Amino acid sequence: MLRRAFRASRGRRAVAPGRGGMDLERHLSPAQLRAVTHGEGPLRVVGGPGGGKTRVLTHRIAWLVREARVPPEQILALTFTNRAAEEMRQRIAALLGEEIPIHAGTIHSWAYRFLCIHRGRQRDGLLGAWNPNQKNSILADARHYFAWQKAVQAAGVDIAPAFALHTVSRAKNDGTGLAEFERRAREAEDVKLAHTAAAWREYERWKLAARVLDFDDLLLFAAELLAEDSVQSAARAHTRWLLLDESQDINRVQWRIVRLLCPPPRGNLTVVGDYDQSIYGWRGADAAAFLELVRDYDAVTVKLETNYRSTEPIVRAANRLIEANRAREDKTLRAAGGDGPEPTVRIELDAALEAARGVEQIRRWLGGGYRPADVAVLVRAWWLTRAFEERLLKGRVPYRVVGGPGFFARREVQDLLAYFTLAVDPTRDDCLRRILNVPRRFLGARAWRALERHALRREMPAFAALSDPGLRWPHRGMRDRALDLFALLQRLRRFDGTSRELLERVIVRTGYLRFLEQECEPAEYRNRRDNVEELLQAAEEHPEPADFVFYAEQLAAERKGDERGGVTLTSIHGAKGLEFPCVIVAGCAERILPHERCEDVEEERRLAYVAVTRAERELLLTCATEYRHRATVPSRFLYEAGLEVAEPEAAEPVGRDGAAAAPVP
Ligand code: ATP
Ligand code: MG
Repeated sequence: MLRRAFRASRGRRAVAPGRGGMDLERHLSPAQLRAVTHGEGPLRVVGGPGGGKTRVLTHRIAWLVREARVPPEQILALTFTNRAAEEMRQRIAALLGEEIPIHAGTIHSWAYRFLCIHRGRQRDGLLGAWNPNQKNSILADARHYFAWQKAVQAAGVDIAPAFALHTVSRAKNDGTGLAEFERRAREAEDVKLAHTAAAWREYERWKLAARVLDFDDLLLFAAELLAEDSVQSAARAHTRWLLLDESQDINRVQWRIVRLLCPPPRGNLTVVGDYDQSIYGWRGADAAAFLELVRDYDAVTVKLETNYRSTEPIVRAANRLIEANRAREDKTLRAAGGDGPEPTVRIELDAALEAARGVEQIRRWLGGGYRPADVAVLVRAWWLTRAFEERLLKGRVPYRVVGGPGFFARREVQDLLAYFTLAVDPTRDDCLRRILNVPRRFLGARAWRALERHALRREMPAFAALSDPGLRWPHRGMRDRALDLFALLQRLRRFDGTSRELLERVIVRTGYLRFLEQECEPAEYRNRRDNVEELLQAAEEHPEPADFVFYAEQLAAERKGDERGGVTLTSIHGAKGLEFPCVIVAGCAERILPHERCEDVEEERRLAYVAVTRAERELLLTCATEYRHRATVPSRFLYEAGLEVAEPEAAEPVGRDGAAAAPVP
């Protein structure tokens, strides 16, 4: 029926010009066309980066709606990250127009909506208790970790909350429930797992009392509800076409949901993906499921081996790089983009120079006619963005940080800078307000209100009011706490030393790292600690404390970090599925890419592969010979990609403080 619909449409030219007319043959290769106009039944599209997988998926949706007359509400398009979902939505809207509503988003957002509709079916248990209308109805980040801390405490077991959190999250994503987990722990006579199971039980109680779910629960409950016949038939009647982008990043539970929504062997399932770009193994993604699809579904496979995104030299480097992986589906990419400049590798003496030269290159690109939005700087670790932000600001190049706050907007950076600033200028009430209760010392919002009121009445800075005996604190214990803080700030004020020394003192005297460690989940703690180290590095570059305050405020206040149409500064994970004419991959060094904390070098190589293949035309890979006083060497991936890695150049042409450059047009 669908084939006929398409054949009938072939004679016509574009459908309704101005609403995303579909002249398919002109816009698609024969293989892509085959995939787009595939009728009913399962379809698997595999292909390398830039092969047009997302293009096939979005065109297929447009074709289903426009040509095969499928009602748009019967189509569900899913992916795994917010950015990729956004990209998918934009492309669909460009083809179909904004007014045609297609459900397209992340699988978690789908599960959330699905549970909101169907949760009434489970009156008891956690799902029955869940209250999606309350604030923070989904446990995430610090609160998630906090819940686990409480659970471990309540269970009275000797186990790290982080271990329990990760082990249980993994188990849930593999589809293992608590009872099954307990049974396995018993059978294996494994004390650690038994303790984890005990904490898990408490964790479930905690969530029940708080009426919240975590992200894993969203998927688990969705799968559970879908297993009920009536829910399943309602869901299937509603969603008749399921399309899945980036399906290499799927995990077991997600896979179960897909199968329930769109049953094998003949469901209307379209999956597109690329095993070589699977980069979420650390979060339980199971790329093998993607490969297994062939076994369970009677799927037609379409291979897309032409890369439409990048020039030949970039594709060549990417091909060589990924060949070093053992686990992969055999395929080679051919470039349709023709010839172009060779990818360049630059090794610099330190991170400041790496950023300075990188930004110099960006300015050359802009001078050559590229727009700032054509350029992306990709990093493996967030702290690497600091040097680039600084240089981009100095060079007056508009930029935006995607996937996280800019370096100087980060919580740990702002907290420490607030202390530092108070040491230089105690009249800064805004800074005092920020750190009054950081680390926690029972001086919360009420304490601040009392302090502020008193300071206003007496016309004194809040800092002075801290020790004023005339201030009536709402609680008895608060006065002592306030006096302790006052004494601490006084000691910092009297300290005479360089910015770095002062910052080190702030960190030690406030016990800030300990505080962070207690507050954060371990992986997050390590990332934040990295940022603290990077802040120390920045302080070292501005030894006079007042200068450092000025420098940091300037960077924080410019607020260029969210400028649309600017250079994109983001992580490699966050850049998946995106493309830019010019790309810099910074920090191509051992310890960073591959990361020293990684467990799987092949996954790191896939990450490098994703980074390289974001570039359409210009690709610069950079690396410093040392980061924060630790020497390193260029990444093995540069050599594997067959790129020429030259010795670092002397620091000559770029001054460290960089003379202010003219603004970019
Ligand atoms: P990734 O694996 O990185 O997500 P992908 O396979 O999804 O890549 P797309 O993003 O769909 O690839 O396509 C890459 C680029 O090539 C896009 O700019 C797309 O518009 C373009 N492109 C895809 N197919 C064609 C084609 N047949 N003709 C011209 N351009 C194409
Ligand atoms: Mg894609």
